[in-house]
Amino acid sequence: MRDKDLYAQILGIKSPWQVTDVELVVSESTVTVHVGRDEKVAVCCPQCARASPGYDPRTRRWRHLDTCQYKTMLVAEVPRVRCEEHGVVTTSVPWAAPGSGFTALFEALVIDWLKEASIAAVSRLMGLSWNAVDGIMQRAVARGLLRREQHCVAHLGVDETAFKKRHDYVSIVSDQTTGHVLHVGSDRKKATLGAWYASLTPEQLASNTSISMDMWPAFINATLACVPEAENKIAFDKFHVAKYLGDAVDKVRREEHKMLMRQGDETLKGSKYDWPYNLKNMTLKRKRQFKALRESTLRTARAWAIKQLAMSLWHYTSKVWARKGWQQWLSWAMRCRLTPMKRVAQTLKTHLWGILNAIVLKVSNGPAEGINSRIKMIKVRSRGFRNKQRFANAIYFYLGGLDLFPATALRSDSPT
Ligand SMILES: [Zn+2]
Repeated sequence: MRDKDLYAQILGIKSPWQVTDVELVVSESTVTVHVGRDEKVAVCCPQCARASPGYDPRTRRWRHLDTCQYKTMLVAEVPRVRCEEHGVVTTSVPWAAPGSGFTALFEALVIDWLKEASIAAVSRLMGLSWNAVDGIMQRAVARGLLRREQHCVAHLGVDETAFKKRHDYVSIVSDQTTGHVLHVGSDRKKATLGAWYASLTPEQLASNTSISMDMWPAFINATLACVPEAENKIAFDKFHVAKYLGDAVDKVRREEHKMLMRQGDETLKGSKYDWPYNLKNMTLKRKRQFKALRESTLRTARAWAIKQLAMSLWHYTSKVWARKGWQQWLSWAMRCRLTPMKRVAQTLKTHLWGILNAIVLKVSNGPAEGINSRIKMIKVRSRGFRNKQRFANAIYFYLGGLDLFPATALRSDSPT
């Protein structure tokens, strides 16, 4: 097989395009594949597909997958047309997305790599600039968002995640069934979430049965204002309730530890991570040490027991019985003489309606936890983001469940 035919097959080049020349420069470790277009075949406007008179062509280059470690470039004269409606437009080529300096297969490979490694690592590995890899990523997200179909989501999750500084947040709306992020809002204000709800159809809003969230007033108010029957859908799920209680237990521990240390008592030293930890995941030795702590008369042990009891109140199927169970817990927690616990109990009391919704709707806390920890990993991997839009796009890239690949990359045709 001649090299021209070989490359035509590898690249999937078909009429009216053909490989006209293959140039190998050993000293530069480069293969350049020249592609030409049959001039007898009429050119069409890429926007309206109307056959239009040609205009002077443009020489364009695309980087393709390496050939045996030889950097492989595609070069072609791409015709332009003068369309009556759209003016002078460059026609599209079957091997690359418009405006990209890479063939679709090359972009697909970069996208695959980005799923495993950071932009910095991929740019090193593929010998590309950081900006080039970033450009591929941004284009992939834009393509994915454009292709995404609006569909009904039964279980929504609304959450917040810190951007850079502690008090700068973005809001995350997710599909709790698939775990996909549907929307990243630029802050956690009522109007921002409200605008997203406003983008949904009445059918989408009505088909929704639960919306799990933390007790942030802006999220609650936006949902009450925009979603029909929201008072029966808003669910303060176990994960978020556990977080409020966990923070309170930690406050009690910190205060008590300080007090004990003043008396030279180191009982609570090094126990910070035991209290919020899942007992099931502890080593036997640690479990034994922690058992002594939590069975002690420490204030922290009392706070922990209050939290644990609340965590056991999620099995109810009836709202009536759930309310009874929680009211008992609330009256105990409100009388506990541990200020941080009392404060949380007060918050939970005013939000009991949404906790009961979460219990009877059987809203799982898995998706929220999963998304949170994956966003943390994205932040660690990227070592921060220049702005919120980039942060949002990274979240869409990794967690959006989007179809990211260029349409022209027939992945089954991939030579790898
Ligand atoms: Zn046109």
